[in-house]
Amino acid sequence: MALMSLVTRFAPSPTGYLHLGHAYSALDGWQRARKAGGRFLLRIEDIDQTRCRPAFEAALLEDLAWLGLDWDGPVRRQSDHFDDYRTALGRLAALGVIYPCFCSRKDIAAASTAPHGPGPNDLAGPLYPGTCRSLSPDEAAARQAAGAPFALRLDVAKASALYGPLDFHDERAGRMAAQPEMLGDVVLARRETPCSYHLCVTLDDDLQGVTLVTRAEDLLAATHIQRLLQALLGLQTPDYAHHKILTDSDGTRLAKRHGATSLRDLRAAGMAPVEIHRMAGFSG
Ligand code: GLU
Repeated sequence: MALMSLVTRFAPSPTGYLHLGHAYSALDGWQRARKAGGRFLLRIEDIDQTRCRPAFEAALLEDLAWLGLDWDGPVRRQSDHFDDYRTALGRLAALGVIYPCFCSRKDIAAASTAPHGPGPNDLAGPLYPGTCRSLSPDEAAARQAAGAPFALRLDVAKASALYGPLDFHDERAGRMAAQPEMLGDVVLARRETPCSYHLCVTLDDDLQGVTLVTRAEDLLAATHIQRLLQALLGLQTPDYAHHKILTDSDGTRLAKRHGATSLRDLRAAGMAPVEIHRMAGFSG
């Protein structure tokens, strides 16, 4: 029997320049695939057109090539595949597990007791308190007809009730029971981003045959929701290797939103790719 070949991926969002933390995720996936004779894929997660810029996409392709990374097959750019995501959203609607939410971010912040702060991928915002979950279909339809802006949310409790316990495997943590309720009723679509990070990433990992997801541990909470979406949409569950978040020497997290040194800054400072490989913890 042939062994299933390893397929890894790097899936950056072109919302800024790549930094050392990105280099780690990319190198991790790339090295594993190359060592195992598997495939390494590149996916551009540019669904949120309010934050993504073509110039950042061009820059990240250049940075990855400079690092010496190559990828297999064509790059999948999510903004070219809105129809795939809409179809998936339609399947979830048919299951009766999504509902329109008319709350503004301000409403949610005021109603939520959970701590909040800005975060990528809808992960670190205030926990949605479920305000619109119990709106009657008539009331929701009337508000939509009146042109009120709304987001579509996943009814996590209802969706979870369709299945028994779900789990997934993380390389460091071992087998984990999925706890999708941790993030509350996440947004799956809104007007300016017709499909959310969670929906697109889950669908694409299956569609592209990814067998191992390598990414930073700040996305571990997202995996719990993505596991539920896999069950709802009848998709494969890959293995996961969530890695530690790289920090500066003073312990500050290396993230582009904190203005951490980008790969191009390091390159302009005369650093060689092999030194970046070493800084990220790989022997090069
Ligand atoms: N596009 C996401 C980000 O840049 C990462 C998605 C993932 O690796 O699952 O934060």
